[in-house]
Amino acid sequence: MVLAVRYPEQLGTIPHAFINGAGCSGVGAVRPLTDPATGRVFLETNESSPEQAQNAVQAAKAALPAWSDTAPGKRADVLFRLAGLIEAQADELAVVEALNVGKPLSQAKRDVGRAADYFRFYAGCCDKLNGDTIPLGPDKTALTVMEPVGVTVHILPWNYPISTLARGVAPALAAGATVVAKPSELTPLSAIMVAQLAIEAGLLDGVLNVVCGAGSVGETLCTHPDTAHVTFTGSTQTGRSVMQSASAPIAGVTLELGGKSPVVVLADADLDAAADGIAKGIFFNAGQVCAAGARLICDRSVHDDLLEKLIQAAQKLTIGHPLDDPDLGPLVSSDQLSRVEGFVVRAKEAGFRCVTGGQRARPKGLEGGLFYEPTIFADVPANSEIAQSEIFGPVLITQLCDTFDEALTLSNNSPFGLVAGIYTANVTKAMRYARQVEAGQVFINGFLQGGDTVPFGGVKQSGIGREKGLAGLAAYTVEKSIVLNHAEGQL
Ligand code: NDP
Repeated sequence: MVLAVRYPEQLGTIPHAFINGAGCSGVGAVRPLTDPATGRVFLETNESSPEQAQNAVQAAKAALPAWSDTAPGKRADVLFRLAGLIEAQADELAVVEALNVGKPLSQAKRDVGRAADYFRFYAGCCDKLNGDTIPLGPDKTALTVMEPVGVTVHILPWNYPISTLARGVAPALAAGATVVAKPSELTPLSAIMVAQLAIEAGLLDGVLNVVCGAGSVGETLCTHPDTAHVTFTGSTQTGRSVMQSASAPIAGVTLELGGKSPVVVLADADLDAAADGIAKGIFFNAGQVCAAGARLICDRSVHDDLLEKLIQAAQKLTIGHPLDDPDLGPLVSSDQLSRVEGFVVRAKEAGFRCVTGGQRARPKGLEGGLFYEPTIFADVPANSEIAQSEIFGPVLITQLCDTFDEALTLSNNSPFGLVAGIYTANVTKAMRYARQVEAGQVFINGFLQGGDTVPFGGVKQSGIGREKGLAGLAAYTVEKSIVLNHAEGQL
């Protein structure tokens, strides 16, 4: 256990914003960054002002012609180099991320590795943004070219700051677009560090800018007349207002919003594999994951056996300081902790059966930290608040079913449609579920079993658009059609 956490020395040297190729101080309000495991302020930053946000968009606009005209192979070189630099600084980035978010160090390291992977994947796409030709007869030729969309704004969440940055920014840069990123005010540091590394990798000034803050910075970016696309990851409610803000410049939007993802377990499933996948899928990153498998929908005949395995898995998890690399770190903020506590208290008051957890965790020496016990409520009614709302904490509910059709109906009884999972030995049922469940991504016999190059995004109130994989490039390119009349005597 870390009783006297030694905070990394380089924290004090990280700038508070990054505009037009240079780190700068924010000129807005002071924002203390707090280690959620100890409550200690480890850095005071200054938020960016709305004027700085405007300057960042202007810098991105000014950099657009040079970056979009850079030969695709040269753009790829820069992104490949950036991937390498992120890997070379992985240890420092992971420590900063773990401390800032409160996530266990090995999970933070994995996020940093994923960020490098995203830059490498999209680097390989720079010279493959092919257009098309369309037959118009012998005298005319129609062709399409893929042009960069323009200035793109990326509003990032606090749960996966560096990997969410990379999965949106890398395809935008690959497409020749320019970027203003706004990390969450709670977790601004890794985005600024990546922007610094991008300059070292050879990125032109102004192509990748980062501004920070809360209150009106996001709205300033999204309503700016030069903003062409907004990519937002966060709550459904804020997603609606981001969409409204982006309507001012008629910017496109990619929205990756909330979820309450179902995981179905049928009677013929491998229960050990299911228990392992479900426990990881809800307790990873302390449940602060949009794709978390928050609803177990289980065949009644195996429910109690599976529940017992899940209780044991939950009770085995270690809880501690992120830099000690436990299974569970603290929640990111006291607001998030109160939110989780509120859901659990109301569920208990409603008489639902809490079979493990259900309260704050107070690991020795870190009693004031924002920790919450891995929690399970069993046999929860389908339309209750705790079955319908995204909690964004380490809280699993179970629901019972007697038939496959009932499992499917329960799965789709949600305003969300981000991810779904099923465990069964019956491939016909698995594929029927995959095709009929309302979700953007379905995992069969291995919930959240990886796939950072697989398209990701929601349906219903979980959002619109796709990130990751080749599909993730679509938001950042615009297909322009050109029709040439080459009939005799026309040229
Ligand atoms: P929000 O979803 O409320 O998003 C906050 C961000 O949105 C800030 O950067 C804010 O910037 C920006 N923003 C707010 N309004 C606008 C607007 N009209 N136009 C442009 N930008 C805007 O995140 P919170 O951190 O408050 O988390 C709230 C809940 O969201 C969590 O409890 C959790 O349930 C969920 N969440 C979901 C995530 C996911 O992965 N889907 C990730 C993180 C959180 P500014 O203040 O400058 O306007």
